[in-house]
Amino acid sequence: MPELPEVETIARGLASRVTGDVIESVWLGSKPEPLKSPAAEIAATLESRRIAGVRRVGKHIVLDLETDRVARAPSPAQRLNRSRGSSTGKKSAGGGARPTQKPTAQWIVHLGMTGRLLVCQPEVEIAKHTHAVVKLASGRELRFVDPRRFGRLSVAHDFEASGSEPLEVQPDHFVSLFRGRKTPIKSALLNQKLLRGVGNIYADESLFRSGIRPRRRAASLTREDLQRLYRALQEVLREAISLGGSSVSDYVDADGEEGFFQLQHRVYGREGEPCPVCKTAIKRVVIAGRSSHYCPKCQK
Ligand SMILES: [Zn+2]
Repeated sequence: MPELPEVETIARGLASRVTGDVIESVWLGSKPEPLKSPAAEIAATLESRRIAGVRRVGKHIVLDLETDRVARAPSPAQRLNRSRGSSTGKKSAGGGARPTQKPTAQWIVHLGMTGRLLVCQPEVEIAKHTHAVVKLASGRELRFVDPRRFGRLSVAHDFEASGSEPLEVQPDHFVSLFRGRKTPIKSALLNQKLLRGVGNIYADESLFRSGIRPRRRAASLTREDLQRLYRALQEVLREAISLGGSSVSDYVDADGEEGFFQLQHRVYGREGEPCPVCKTAIKRVVIAGRSSHYCPKCQK
């Protein structure tokens, strides 16, 4: 499953490729699972909109769309769409106290386990398990492919994810997130309401680097422990981003090329192998249904 660094890498790759391009039309497949918003709403939100930018929010890829539609000679069907769009009351959202506040629109992609976003030329054969094809004014297509269908496509206005962004949260706030929590620190790190986008790999790796056992209750950690964890988490995420995300899963970058180097995991997935620091065998335990890897000697 792509974690925060992979999603960051994909969002950056997409940003450099599609920012400024205009969405001309949207085709959505018939499988219901990938569509978190109704198909008609996705199409109506995306069509004729310019992509203002692409960013990562937690593990979501957010394509920000310009508010004003791009004018072009509309076909009768599109005219119909457009008049339908304006009758849904979007224009009234800015009415009242803040008339200058225009509603914003976003296309949100969650890759799930096996989701991929490909930017390609239209003549490239459409892969099996393609659930969306977005035609761009540049002539290229943005395609969403997802064999296992845990990925999700949706549209929103003023998209807001829960939890704090692990690379932006201030140290004091980070410490306060875990204060008084009786759950294991590993579970707290994975709790998306506290921090968004931290998954199993980077939780295990940051706990190893900060010398904290995954089963320790969050409330039992001192301020110093949590500050060490804060630094370790940021360090491990930044390292992985600079390497382009670890490629543990079946996924490729925005061009469809396998282009990722793998961050050297120190404990994750290394059960029974020697700890890189002390050579003790790495242990694996299951906490809240998730595998956790740690060194019984280095982590207390
Ligand atoms: Zn060790």
